[in-house]
Amino acid sequence: MSISQTVKDFITLAIQSGGWMEMDRLYLENRVIAMIGENSLSKAENRMVSESAVDLVDQLLTQAEKNQVITGLQAEKDILEAQLMDLMTPPPSVVNAYFAQYYSKDPVQATDYFFKLSKNNDYIKTREIARNIIFPAETEYGELEITINLSKPEKDPKQIAAERQMKKVDYPECMLCMENEGYKGRMNYPARTNHRIIRMNLEGESWGFQYSPYAYYNEHCIILSEEHRPMKITKATFRRLLKIIEVLPHYFVGSNADLPIVGGSILSHDHYQGGRHTFPMALAEIERNFELKDYPNVKAGIVKWPMSVIRLQGKNQEDLIEASQLIFEKWQNYSDEALQIVAKTADGTPHHTITPIARRKDDLFEMDLVLRDNNVSEEFPDGIFHPHPDVQHIKKENIGLIEVMGLAVLPPRLEPELKEVEKYLLAEKNDIADYHLEWAEQLKANVHITQENVTHVVQKAVGAVFARVLEDAGVFKRDVEGQEGFTRFIKTL
Ligand SMILES: [Zn+2]
Repeated sequence: MSISQTVKDFITLAIQSGGWMEMDRLYLENRVIAMIGENSLSKAENRMVSESAVDLVDQLLTQAEKNQVITGLQAEKDILEAQLMDLMTPPPSVVNAYFAQYYSKDPVQATDYFFKLSKNNDYIKTREIARNIIFPAETEYGELEITINLSKPEKDPKQIAAERQMKKVDYPECMLCMENEGYKGRMNYPARTNHRIIRMNLEGESWGFQYSPYAYYNEHCIILSEEHRPMKITKATFRRLLKIIEVLPHYFVGSNADLPIVGGSILSHDHYQGGRHTFPMALAEIERNFELKDYPNVKAGIVKWPMSVIRLQGKNQEDLIEASQLIFEKWQNYSDEALQIVAKTADGTPHHTITPIARRKDDLFEMDLVLRDNNVSEEFPDGIFHPHPDVQHIKKENIGLIEVMGLAVLPPRLEPELKEVEKYLLAEKNDIADYHLEWAEQLKANVHITQENVTHVVQKAVGAVFARVLEDAGVFKRDVEGQEGFTRFIKTL
């Protein structure tokens, strides 16, 4: 296909995306040729376009590289791609107006519109996400979800060298700031020209709603505070979470805990994560009900889950907010030294917080409160309630919101490493990492391994290790001692 035809087709899609009119065509085509270093356009057909914008932008980028507008550096490509895709994306005010218009008919239509837009303009990196290795793993807690994260490509040395020469810039302040909307990006900062944020009012405060470029599950979204301020779990958190699922009843939403070790990777900007996905934890059942004497209309129970989860259900949001706050406050001050559970160290440093998750269940609001403790000890310097050394060969990173709910996000190193484990189990020539040896030996001793079942055996075993990882992060263990401890805590409520 001629480059002129590609440009024409690209602009046809841009006009269809809702930000432009047919009258804008010449103007847009001229902007595109300037961006890719072409001098002129030849005749091309105005026709129905069957290719996607993502396919067409690839062709435009190839031409730009031929014309030496960009070099092979990934960051340069990303910046130009986002600028081209910006034409495929209406301005923020228009996207927000479309969202509101769809919303007035049905919240699902509104998120469908915004999700499709964010994929179509390659803001959501669909092709990169498709590289992830995903498999289910049956455990005693149900089917856990395992993802080996291969979506973020390793940086090449040229890119790293170019980044090193960059001056330090503090704008935008972080990746979750509103100032990312439309930001060009730079050598060491992602291109966001095609990025749009839906404005949301949460209890009198301005918040933004956007999708995650590297999603781990369906319609993985982020709800962020307009103000760059640290993560903080308070009563307002419960209020906002319930408000979000009132506005978007087909989504769940949760917050990372607000302390290091037990929190997620970004504690510097107040935000929540949500989406349209039913996590394994949501499917886990209540194994023990108990009563909250001050909140007779709130149903409370302990969830059958490797971590320590209290589930609250009710029709009235205020009751749920108050009950959540009660549990949160009690937990912040609760110690049980026999179980190494310590609320505050001698200097007053707090160690207790929670990971809250809210969702709708039929006509009920449901709030899961996961009790967290970030203490360290001589025996466990990485964290007492953190993956212990014997499972760190699979996962040593923090157990944040997504893992808590039963989706493991595992590092890319495991892709080649698990292949070597398979070869080892099959007694083939291999390069197994030392730290996987003991685990592999146990597998070999327990299961008859064949060429046919080896991948399944390894995947199931990874699932079992992940369940152990979550058990390590649980404050009340699932043995008799731990469950008695859980009962003692419940009695304080
Ligand atoms: Zn920020």
